[in-house]
Amino acid sequence: MTGTVLVVGGGPAGLRAAVDLADFGARVLLVEKRDQLGGAPVRWKYRSLAPDFTPTEEVMGPLIGFCESSPMVEVHKGSVVEGCEGSVGDFTVKVRNEADGTTTEHRVSSVIVATGFEHFDASVDPRYAYGRAPNVIGINELEAMLKEGRVVGHDGRPPKRVAFIFCVGSRDRSTNPWCCTVCCGVSIKQAIEMKQTLGDVQVYMIYMDIRTVGLWEKLYWDSMEKYGINYIRGRVGEVYYTGEKLLVKGEDTLVRGPFEVLFDMVVLAVGIEPGPGTKQAAGVLGLKLNEYGFIAPRQPNVHVDSGRDGIFLAGTCIAPMSIEETLSEGSAAAMQAAKVLKKTVAV
Ligand SMILES: Cc1cc2nc3c(=O)[nH]c(=O)nc-3n(C[C@H](O)[C@H](O)[C@H](O)COP(=O)(O)OP(=O)(O)OC[C@H]3O[C@@H](n4cnc5c(N)ncnc54)[C@H](O)[C@@H]3O)c2cc1C
Repeated sequence: MTGTVLVVGGGPAGLRAAVDLADFGARVLLVEKRDQLGGAPVRWKYRSLAPDFTPTEEVMGPLIGFCESSPMVEVHKGSVVEGCEGSVGDFTVKVRNEADGTTTEHRVSSVIVATGFEHFDASVDPRYAYGRAPNVIGINELEAMLKEGRVVGHDGRPPKRVAFIFCVGSRDRSTNPWCCTVCCGVSIKQAIEMKQTLGDVQVYMIYMDIRTVGLWEKLYWDSMEKYGINYIRGRVGEVYYTGEKLLVKGEDTLVRGPFEVLFDMVVLAVGIEPGPGTKQAAGVLGLKLNEYGFIAPRQPNVHVDSGRDGIFLAGTCIAPMSIEETLSEGSAAAMQAAKVLKKTVAV
C-alpha cells in the first residue's frame, strides 16, 4: 500500500487536485507532458480570465508555485505515463521522460487524469482562410497579443475594424457538433480588452447564439452598453483576402439577407476538442473515450468517476468547461483519491 497519488496533467484541474491532496497530507506524483506547468492558460498566455478579468497569474501562480516548491509534490515535466498495472490502492506506474527516454517506476494508490483539451485547428475548415490569409487569428493567439498590450496586424498597424466569428469548430456537424461552452464569454472578454487597449476600433461579433451562461451574462450587456461592441446574428460562408482587407461574406439570420463587410482583422473563436494527450493517457490507463474522443465517465452526471476503480477524472478531458468548473473538478477528484487513501493507508 502507498500514500502517493498520481496526477496526470499539470493544467488547472491537475494542479488543483495536486495542491488539495498535498494539503491533505498525501504525496503527489505530478506528470506533465510539456516542459511547463499551468496548462492552456499558461501555454497560450491568457491575459485575464472571464468573467471578472482576473489576471491569470492570480489564479494560476499560487497553484504552480505550490507544486514547484512543495516537498509533497514530485513533478515530472516533459513526461508521460507509459504503463499502469495493479488495482485501486496499489497501482504500479511507469513514467517516461520524453527528452532522455529514461523510465521510472512508482507505486501509487490512485490516479487522477486531467489531460485537458486542444484548440480546434481552424485550417481544417477552408471557409475561414486561417493559415492562408494574413490577420486571421484564433482567440488563443489574441490572448497573447492582449497580454503584451500590442494588438497589431501583419503590417505592424493596429486594426481599425475587427470581426470575431463565433463557433469555429463548435456546434458544427461538419467538424465538432458540441458547444465549447466558454468561447462566447471569452470572445466578448477579449473584445472588451481590445477596446480598452486600442480605443479607436470598431468590433463586430458574428454569432450563432450568445451562450454567456450564469454570471458570465454580464459580459454581454457590458460589451454593448459600456463599450459599443456590435452584434450580427449570422453565419459566415467565406473569409476572402482582397490583398488589402479581409472580406467576410455571410448571411444575417435575423434580417435574413446576405452581408459582405471588410475588416482589418478576423478573430476566430476556435472551439475546444480532445487532444492526443487525452487519447494517450486513456489508452495507457484503459479508459473509455466517448464518440467525440473525450474520456467517458462511468455515469455522465458524475464526472470524476472514470469507470475504473481508483482512477478519477477532472476538467476538460471529460468535456469543455470553464476554469471555475475545472478547478472544482480538480478538488472533487482529489477528494475521491483521499477517500481511497483513507481506506488503504493512514495518511
Ligand atoms: C482561448 C481560450 C481562453 C479561455 N479563457 C478562459 C477564461 O477566461 N475563463 C475560464 O473560466 N475559462 C477559459 N478558458 C477555458 C480554460 O482554458 C479551461 O477550462 C482550462 O484550461 C481547462 O483546464 P484543464 O486542466 O482541464 O486542461 P488544460 O488547461 O488543457 O491542461 C491540461 C494539461 O495536461 C497536459 N497533458 C495532456 N496530455 C497529457 C498526457 N498524456 N500526459 C501528461 N500530461 C498531459 C497538457 O500539456 C496540459 O498542461 C479558455 C479557453 C480558451 C480556448
